Amino acid sequence: MLEVRNLSVDYRGNRALEEVSLFIPLGQLVGIIGPNGAGKSTLVEAMLNLIPITQGKVQFKDRPLKDQLLKTSYVPQRTLIDWDYPVTVWNVVLMAQTVQTGLFRGVSRKARHLASEALERVNLYDLRDRPIGELSGGQQQRVFLARALAKKAELLVFDEPFTGVDRKTEDIIYDIFRDLRTEGKTVLVINHDLGDSLAIYDQLLLLNKRLIAQGPRQEVITSENLARAYGRGLARVFA
Ligand code: ADP
Ligand code: MG
Repeated sequence: MLEVRNLSVDYRGNRALEEVSLFIPLGQLVGIIGPNGAGKSTLVEAMLNLIPITQGKVQFKDRPLKDQLLKTSYVPQRTLIDWDYPVTVWNVVLMAQTVQTGLFRGVSRKARHLASEALERVNLYDLRDRPIGELSGGQQQRVFLARALAKKAELLVFDEPFTGVDRKTEDIIYDIFRDLRTEGKTVLVINHDLGDSLAIYDQLLLLNKRLIAQGPRQEVITSENLARAYGRGLARVFA
């Protein structure tokens, strides 16, 4: 169980997240939706101990998640990544593991094997020696997906992975999400889109500063919930 209790976050006195509580059974593929500025990124960053929280508790398997971050893997929003950083595809994927292997002990055979396997899974092994900045948006997203896979995490978090990617990448990402669930991993995906793509999730979290709804798509995507999250206009379009 992944458990969030009364989580609140403030940025310099402005509340971004208000007493969010939720429970997610392990092994689920969960979509996090809500308007721009709803606090979706803030929620996952707070859960992963990347930003300070005002109050609350985040537990994974009955222990604080922040003590188990090696079991997690996080792919931030595209805009938070420095794409000009001079690093090859191969090293981006390998870097996921330097925490575990220790940077100065050299890269183990196992780490290299995991990196190769992950790059093959996302169809990018042939581009492994290219600088990350030279790749297309979709390819770049797949590099970070490979990096997350190579870490063999139990809890994976993706912030808007479908933004700025091509159709081929989208299909690969969906396939991998399904595989991860089959492997029993818990996967949280922030999804900007409210369309058909939501069908793949076991459950949805609808957020707008507070948790507005949590559950299967049919229960979450109702005109009343959407009106509370997005205002009346959009609710009419989607429900
Ligand atoms: P979402 O990911 O749903 O679009 P965010 O979590 O990025 O929303 O932002 C939630 C709110 O917190 C927004 O009002 C945003 O402007 C604010 N916010 C996010 N990050 C910061 C920050 N580093 N400093 C100050 N305010 C922030
Ligand atoms: Mg965001």
